[in-house]
Amino acid sequence: MRVTRGLWLAMVAACGGSDPGDPTDARVVDAASDGAPAPDASPNAFHYEVTILDINGALSPMHDQLIACARGGLDEWGTYLSGMGTLTVEIRVTSTATGRMAGASTSNVSVGPCAHTASCTVVEEQAIRRLRTGLDNPAMVGVPDVHIDVDPSYWNTQVWVDPDPQARTAPVPGDRLDCVSLFTHELGHAFGMVGFRDLTTFQPTVAFQSLYDDQIQVGTDTLTFNGPLTVGDFGPIPLTRTSATQNVYHYGDASTPGPIDTLLMNGIVYEYGHRYRVQKLDARIVEDLGVPVYRLPAQ
Ligand SMILES: [Zn+2]
Repeated sequence: MRVTRGLWLAMVAACGGSDPGDPTDARVVDAASDGAPAPDASPNAFHYEVTILDINGALSPMHDQLIACARGGLDEWGTYLSGMGTLTVEIRVTSTATGRMAGASTSNVSVGPCAHTASCTVVEEQAIRRLRTGLDNPAMVGVPDVHIDVDPSYWNTQVWVDPDPQARTAPVPGDRLDCVSLFTHELGHAFGMVGFRDLTTFQPTVAFQSLYDDQIQVGTDTLTFNGPLTVGDFGPIPLTRTSATQNVYHYGDASTPGPIDTLLMNGIVYEYGHRYRVQKLDARIVEDLGVPVYRLPAQ
C-alpha cells in the first residue's frame, strides 16, 4: 500500500480508451443510494464512476469483482463523506512497485501558499477538489480523478473477494485480505493522505506540499499530523516513521504502540481475516484536508 503519485500517471489513464481488446469497463453508480438520480450536490454521500484499465487482460474474469470491491470501499467512505459532481475512479490492473495495491488522486491543483511550511505552494488533490467543487482539474479534463492500481498476482494470491461488498457480513478468511478494506485504504490516500515529503527525513522535497504535508509537524523524535479538527478530537496523531515504505502517509508507528495502530490507515500491518472500516480518526483527517464530511463515524 505504498503511496505513489505523479502527473505522468494521468497519461497512462488517458490512453485507456484506445487500448486493444476493449480493456475498459465502466459502471456509474451512486454511493450509498444506488440507482437514485444524481443531483449536482449530494446532501449525503457522493456520486462516483468506476472504470477498469486492464491492458493485458490479466484479471479479465474478475472485473465485476474488482468493481464490486471498489464500490464497497467508495460506499464505506460515502457513509460519511458528501460531495459535488461525480468522482471518477479508475482501477488499473498493473504491476506495482510494492507488488500490492496503490491508490492516489491522478493530479492536483495549486490552491495558494502553504500555511505552515516556509516558501511553498500547497496543492489540493483532485479527489478533494471534485468532492468540494464538482469540478475537473482544468488541465486534465476527462482524466479520472483517482487511480487504484492492483497488482494481478497480489489479487490472485492475497485478496479475498467479499461476496456481498455492501453488507460486509461474511467472515473474512484468516489467510486473506478483505478486498473492500483494501480499496477503502487506497481511497484514503486518494482523499489526501499523500504528498511530497522525504520518507526518511520527513522534510519537504519540493516547492509544493499537499494539504496533508502542510499539516505535519516534524520533531526530534516525533512525526505528527496536526490538522485542527483531528487534534481537537485526538490530539496530534503520530505518523509512521520507522517503516521502509509506509512512512509519513500512514499513522501509527511500531516504535510507539498505541490504539490507532489497528485502524484503516495504519502503516504497521494489514491483518489477514480482518475487515477495516472508516473510523472517526480517518474522517477527521480528510475533513482537515477539505473533504466534505456530513456525518462522523461513532468511533
Ligand atoms: Zn497505504
